[in-house]
Amino acid sequence: MIKVEKLNKSFGDLHVLKDIDLKVNESDVVVLIGASGSGKSTLLRCLNFLEIKNSGKIVIEGDQIEQETHDLNKVRERVGMVFQHFNLFPHKTVLGNIIEAPTQVKGISKEQAIKEGKLLLDKVGLGDKYNVYPSTLSGGQKQRVAIARALAMKPDVMLFDEPTSALDPELVGEVLSTMKELADDGMTMVVVTHEMGFAREVGDWVVYMHDGKIVESGIPIDLFDNPRKERTKEFLGSIL
Ligand code: ATP
Ligand code: MG
Repeated sequence: MIKVEKLNKSFGDLHVLKDIDLKVNESDVVVLIGASGSGKSTLLRCLNFLEIKNSGKIVIEGDQIEQETHDLNKVRERVGMVFQHFNLFPHKTVLGNIIEAPTQVKGISKEQAIKEGKLLLDKVGLGDKYNVYPSTLSGGQKQRVAIARALAMKPDVMLFDEPTSALDPELVGEVLSTMKELADDGMTMVVVTHEMGFAREVGDWVVYMHDGKIVESGIPIDLFDNPRKERTKEFLGSIL
């Protein structure tokens, strides 16, 4: 579970997140939508403590996380993140990529990490690819490896920042299905995406951001079919 209250983030004079309130219940999928520059990535990065908030509260699984009192590296282990660009280590095999953090950061034995890593690769449909190098994979396969790599840390929640935006259209579906399976397994997820089909089908809650604020949020059918705010209507009109 994630709870955010009155979160503010600025870069110098630029006030990027303005009093953001957000709750992500256990096993829910929250989809963030909004125009470029509205603050979606910054919000995800604050949830993963890649950016440090200026003010407000962030509670992860009941713990209110503060930079002063928490080891943020430890917190990041609990919050998995998948980016638009997969950033796999090119000189490591697929399995090597997956066992890196569990063995190096968490101190799990190599045998155990390999066993769990292979199960994760099965799960994302790449059980036969464990021994190849990332350069031999398609974009969709690379992204599924990146998802497995994040899962290898056994995070409490998973954040996705436009995970399919860099993919050729025909590869988008396989990554979205992997994410849907993860959601069906009960993972708590926050997803920034332009894939409105995914938002409708898999999202439990959709949040529309504009200019650093949450303009409107609701269950998908309400937000997409009956938006209350003029601004939401305009945005949906421009993308749908
Ligand atoms: P997009 O859809 O293009 O990914 P976004 O909604 O994810 O956009 P953010 O990347 O969160 O938007 O950016 C919000 C604002 O914060 C933008 O004006 C951006 O230029 C600014 N910004 C983001 N990161 C930084 C940074 N590290 N330093 C300065 N400004 C930043
Ligand atoms: Mg972004």
